[in-house]
Amino acid sequence: MKAATSLVVFSDLDGTLLDHDTYSWSAARPALSALRRIGAPLILSSSKTAVEIAKIQKELGISGLPAIVENGAGLLDARPDAADDYARLRLQLDRLPRDLRAPFEGFGDMDAARVAQITGLSLGDAANAKSRAYSEPGLWSGDAQTRAAFITALAAQGVSAREGGRFLTLSFGATKADGMAQVISQLKPRYTLALGDAPNDAEMLTAADFGVIVANPSRAPLPPLSGERGNQIIRTQHPGPEGWNMAVLAILKQLDLDQERDPTHG
Ligand SMILES: [Mg+2]
Repeated sequence: MKAATSLVVFSDLDGTLLDHDTYSWSAARPALSALRRIGAPLILSSSKTAVEIAKIQKELGISGLPAIVENGAGLLDARPDAADDYARLRLQLDRLPRDLRAPFEGFGDMDAARVAQITGLSLGDAANAKSRAYSEPGLWSGDAQTRAAFITALAAQGVSAREGGRFLTLSFGATKADGMAQVISQLKPRYTLALGDAPNDAEMLTAADFGVIVANPSRAPLPPLSGERGNQIIRTQHPGPEGWNMAVLAILKQLDLDQERDPTHG
């Protein structure tokens, strides 16, 4: 009988495992190796699309694992009818009064060159970022009062707006914690650990046994979460992959998993 999975790690990408500016994870290599050694699956959980996440999984050498895409609206193996969600979102946006619609520049309003410009991604990666099925990230250029009216008008149509590290992302309401629950029911781990840097990670951090808020100096700090009082959720001092690395290694040690070996590999 296969031994139970000790630990499953759920991680946001931008500003968490990936550096906010360079998208590099090299500072997290020691912790990534430790997770591989003990056989702890790393579940990427991001506002990115399925195409983007599959590419990053390949680069990390973790292809084939489940992943949470587009802020929890779906898992990596997308539903065949998923594109309907995106088309419906774009339709709802375009039905808004002009003064509310105009300050929101969604990925669907941009060409790949513009997405590349605002994200720093290559043109090819920017095209993958535009290949959306469930959610619409965008930039808000209006004032805070109009932004609140925009969010209220969308909410009346069943559309929710979540703030990530960089973008305001619209969807039909799923969170990363919804995707997480599906993965947990598949893998049945003894412990769960989640890492994130932004408000759209809050539900995931709260749902995990251990949550880590990774410092992101490029954005306002995440408001305090209830789990921080009892130390279920901690904050890193160091930003991005550097903070990620230190936090994961510390938690493996705390759980006495750092000396464990993957039971499925000699
Ligand atoms: Mg992030």
